[in-house]
Amino acid sequence: MAGDGGVITFDAALAEVLREAGRVHEPGTEDVGLMSALRRVLAEQVAADRDQPPFDRATRDGFAVRAADVSAEMEVVGQVRAGERWTGGAMTEKQAIEIMTGAPMPAGADAVVMLEHVAAVAGRVRVEDGRVRVEDGRRVSVGDNVVPRGAEARAGDTVLERRVVMGAAEIALAAACGAASVKVFGRPRVAIVATGDELVELEETPEDWQIRNSNSYGLAAMVEAAGGEAVRLPIARDEREELRGALEAARGCDLLLLSGGVSMGKYDLVEEVLAEFEAEFFFTGVRMQPGKPVVFGRLPARGDREGRYFFGLPGNPVSTQVTFHCFVEPMLRALGGAAVEGPRFVQARLAKDVAAKAGLVRMLPARLTSDWMRPEVRLVGWKGSGDLTANARANCYAVLPGDVVEFRAGDVVSVLLR
Ligand code: AMP
Ligand code: MG
Repeated sequence: MAGDGGVITFDAALAEVLREAGRVHEPGTEDVGLMSALRRVLAEQVAADRDQPPFDRATRDGFAVRAADVSAEMEVVGQVRAGERWTGGAMTEKQAIEIMTGAPMPAGADAVVMLEHVAAVAGRVRVEDGRVRVEDGRRVSVGDNVVPRGAEARAGDTVLERRVVMGAAEIALAAACGAASVKVFGRPRVAIVATGDELVELEETPEDWQIRNSNSYGLAAMVEAAGGEAVRLPIARDEREELRGALEAARGCDLLLLSGGVSMGKYDLVEEVLAEFEAEFFFTGVRMQPGKPVVFGRLPARGDREGRYFFGLPGNPVSTQVTFHCFVEPMLRALGGAAVEGPRFVQARLAKDVAAKAGLVRMLPARLTSDWMRPEVRLVGWKGSGDLTANARANCYAVLPGDVVEFRAGDVVSVLLR
């Protein structure tokens, strides 16, 4: 697979990954406590166990009234707080019941007048002589400041679909439905093999000419963040025999990630050894920078083991991380049972002029500001795709498509989130 034959565009590469991600088999399932479901993928839908909200709910502090009555003055006949229900019978004409946010509406009431819209307000509410008056000119309509029972979901409705990744929003919703435990898919096991003669493990003291194996750690962190279980295997030297051994050691895993050894050098042997194992290659390079040498393929089924996908990621740490976010993460999530989805991009204005490179999609370490009205993206100065320091100063990657060579401050570009 040497040569440029397998080098394809970024779009084509992403399409290959997403197509293959759509073909993976569903993993096994397990039941876990709700908090252990964080970052996991739902294997069984969650349904509302009762109507949501379970009663007509006041959404404001104020007075429950009959909208048709709201004219001049109403008699305040009582109070209902959250956690209580009104037991004083149906409200009649010209009556009001003081009500708190989250409390159930009393029978007969059909709207809530906000405290702020009650006339006798001066800093705090004064309800004189047990009477409340709506501010002049303030209309009250049926349903104001009330969410009717079942408006968000009916008992039995599916509120969380299968294949959804459980984040905070999903966990809160499951909790609201009484799901103390949920069924999730098993986490894919991801073998991580760093290759390179120059690499030493973290526990060792590197000689001046050696490099610490940081990629295995960065990859393991990204794998875990994306819902996988990282299996860090020992460093493999740039020798066929060691690489063969690494591929054997990774056999029990659902996905194989190699870093390094995929460039054009004399000792870049990863593709060659994968080919010995009868790998099928979907691409062996992508017109992007960083990340051009990235390789994606599949090892054939062997014995009772199904075929397995692998990525040969460039060894340069920024390339490793960018290609992980673009290609590995969607595949990893799919292997974990999640709905197939590509990486997420947003758009922001460039803070400064930038010169790009024709023919390559660039993904440059950058910082997205938190200005909500006008988010800006500012490139982080970097010394190329080996610059882990710049990568850590960044919080995203600015994407410069290969068809424009000069960008001006204020131009809108895509941003890869991480
Ligand atoms: P390669 O892709 O093998 O040509 O490596 C490209 C660059 O990335 C070289 O400067 C390597 O030293 C560096 N590199 C490769 N693997 C790792 C690793 N596991 N951790 C940190 N740097 C690496
Ligand atoms: Mg190398």
